[in-house]
Amino acid sequence: MQNASDTFRKEGKKIGLVPTMGYLHEGHLALVRKARGLADVVVASIFVNPLQFGPKEDLARYPRDFERDRTLLEQELTDVLYFPDVAEMYPQGYSTYVEVKELPDHLCGLSRKGHFGGVATVVAKLFNAVKPHFAVFGQKDYQQLKIIQRMVKDLNMDLEIIGYPTVREEGGLAMSSRNAYLSADEREKALLIQASMKKVEELFRGGERKARVLEGEARRVLTSKDGIDIEYVTLCDPETFHGLEEVGTSALLAIAAKVGKTRLIDNTVLTEP
Ligand code: AMP
Repeated sequence: MQNASDTFRKEGKKIGLVPTMGYLHEGHLALVRKARGLADVVVASIFVNPLQFGPKEDLARYPRDFERDRTLLEQELTDVLYFPDVAEMYPQGYSTYVEVKELPDHLCGLSRKGHFGGVATVVAKLFNAVKPHFAVFGQKDYQQLKIIQRMVKDLNMDLEIIGYPTVREEGGLAMSSRNAYLSADEREKALLIQASMKKVEELFRGGERKARVLEGEARRVLTSKDGIDIEYVTLCDPETFHGLEEVGTSALLAIAAKVGKTRLIDNTVLTEP
């Protein structure tokens, strides 16, 4: 991959990278299209990174369909599909890890210890392998996006990180490879996540600024039916993730909840009009 990237660079081509764990959906493909519009060479990577899964998480059963992914990426005119295997990524003796401090001490990082270290490490390796001029990440994984931006800045990595808005299914559910785990009934319940965010946005537009009230309203909507187990509903600073009492000019509303056994996340940024 590095040799190919060196050649592209020598030819003066702009390389755009879209890192994924595969089992692609429209959200991933939107990132590829974004990259296609900006790059001469679009590289998509597929790697289910063991380092970012906890021991009790779904690494073994994470959905995979390589042939389907390959066809979808071809249709989007992806130039290179990079799919290293685990032994290539982490060969015997592998011992180097990237740890971003502070930002992982909030939101998903609280229940997924080590997760963002695994993400930062693999993304740093992908950047070194692909040598992209830019990489596109989804805002659906808002904390991940901010952590990658922090890493790139702190380590003087020479590329631009582009955030892309969350792509949703018709009913509003944020697209995720893990939605494949949901039964029809669970999918229906999962719609409450988007509904709770809409409710908070509506109250915010109406002038409500107290985090306790806004979070409380989101929780009320989420628990209006049985079957949603809230992990967190948090209004926080969109850059530091520190909790807020009053929402100022902008705030991140972030939600993680389990619907049945499936853990889903979503978020929206409230901004003063
Ligand atoms: P994943 O395969 O889940 O690791 O995701 C790969 C990339 O796609 C990450 O940058 C995600 O943030 C992004 N992504 C996942 N779901 C969506 C979505 N619904 N809308 C936009 N981007 C997404």
